[in-house]
Order: sequence, then structure tokens, then C-alpha cells
Amino acid sequence: MPALFVKKEDKVLDLSGKDRGKTGRVLRVMPAAQRVLVEGVAFVKRHTRPNPAKNIKGGIVERESSVHVSNLKVICSECGEPTRVGHSVLEDGKKVRVCKKCKGILDK
Ligand SMILES: [Zn+2]
Repeated sequence: MPALFVKKEDKVLDLSGKDRGKTGRVLRVMPAAQRVLVEGVAFVKRHTRPNPAKNIKGGIVERESSVHVSNLKVICSECGEPTRVGHSVLEDGKKVRVCKKCKGILDK
């Protein structure tokens, strides 16, 4: 399975939907679906039925829904710009992601 170019804790920019231009922190990646959950982005309202057995209160709950990775850009921690992600291999053989703009290393 190809690894995603976004990782947990990355800061990303959403390029799609009503949250276009919003940035947030990656909460969860779902490589199989090529989707990620981003904090504060793509909120949806879920109508929940109360279920006392599971201690769930009914009502409308707002929570993040997943965003397809093609709609995201990683924000570089070095230059602060939304960027495409490149790959590089360090001298010790470690593979890292790099910013295509400033060549900064995204994986510390
Ligand atoms: Zn950069």
C-alpha cells in the first residue's frame, strides 16, 4: 500500500469544499481510503439518536469528516508555505519528506 504524503500531526491546508483555505492539524490518516481527518476542517453535523445503554446523548453533533488527500497540501514547518512534498534520502539512509519550495526537511 502506498504511504500517504501526509502524516499525523502535519499541518495541512484544505483546498476543497466549504473549508477551502482552512488549515489544521492531521488527526488521523487512512491510507487505504487515501483520506485524512483534519482538526477543525470539514465539519459535518451528525444527527445522533440517544442510546442510554451506551451513554450516548441524542442530538446534533458536529465533528470532523475525512478529506481526500488530493485536496490537501502540507504546510512546510520550515518556510510556512503550502507545498508539494518531495522525498529525499539522508546520508544515514533515512528517508525523509522534503518541502519542494525551500528543500527543508519535513520529518524531524
Ligand atoms: Zn518549505
